[in-house]
Amino acid sequence: MTATAHALIGGAIAASISNPSIGLPLAALSHPIADMVPHWDFGWGWKKKTKFKLFVQSSFDLIFGLTLAFLLFGRSTEPVYLISAIFMSEVWDLMQMPYLLWGWKFPFSTFYKFQHDINGKAKLPWGIVTQAVTVGGLVFALRFVH
Ligand SMILES: [Zn+2]
Repeated sequence: MTATAHALIGGAIAASISNPSIGLPLAALSHPIADMVPHWDFGWGWKKKTKFKLFVQSSFDLIFGLTLAFLLFGRSTEPVYLISAIFMSEVWDLMQMPYLLWGWKFPFSTFYKFQHDINGKAKLPWGIVTQAVTVGGLVFALRFVH
């Protein structure tokens, strides 16, 4: 999924589960699970994009997600916990970026291969709709855990 979707899921986990020893592993676990839902991503077709475009789009996606997560959940939890949960929810994609951008192999290519195998793909516009529904549903459901 987009970094924005993962950031919102990580943020919702931090805002709902006050114990970081549960919240942080859960945020890490949320990434591959969310990625199994058919979705669209900036990374699709990365081989045909210039590295610069890929970098700019990924960075924008990440910064946008961070901003949105802080706006939505910033008042519900500790900022250090919130940023850690967001980091854990993004870490799988961050770990594959050196491979996508610079061709660095192990361990970065392993993260790419694993994610490539489990990723559910859907074209636009449905690939965005499925993400909005998944993220919205999770954020809504997590409010009741609180
Ligand atoms: Zn991923």
